[in-house]
Amino acid sequence: MLALQAYLVLVAMLLGSFINLAADRLPRGESLVRPRSHCRSCGRVLNMVDLIPVAGYLIRKGRCATCGVAIGALSPTIEALCGAGMLAAIATLGTGRGAAVGFAVVALVGVTAVAAGFGRMRPKRGSPAG
Ligand SMILES: [Zn+2]
Repeated sequence: MLALQAYLVLVAMLLGSFINLAADRLPRGESLVRPRSHCRSCGRVLNMVDLIPVAGYLIRKGRCATCGVAIGALSPTIEALCGAGMLAAIATLGTGRGAAVGFAVVALVGVTAVAAGFGRMRPKRGSPAG
């Protein structure tokens, strides 16, 4: 049943990818659905390669394939964290309970990342806008 575990880890990493999207867009008040994921610098719509969790980042060497802007290490870190959390939970608790705990870890990472995203958007203390 190794395929099931691999599938669960993959799902966890894809959820990590979605967490990045949510943490980036929710604080800006943008939709999670539209527009499609794109480079914040040049506007290029991301393709399949860009969207592979962790591996896409490594293939692109952390940069946009079109304009070369640095993507930042946070996105692959969150994806890897989700995948590793799921893998560790399954390895220690077994597939059934491990998957439940793994998804709880992913949810926790998601809440933390989105909260941090909102924190980044908050005006600095003492600024006129605050
Ligand atoms: Zn770009």
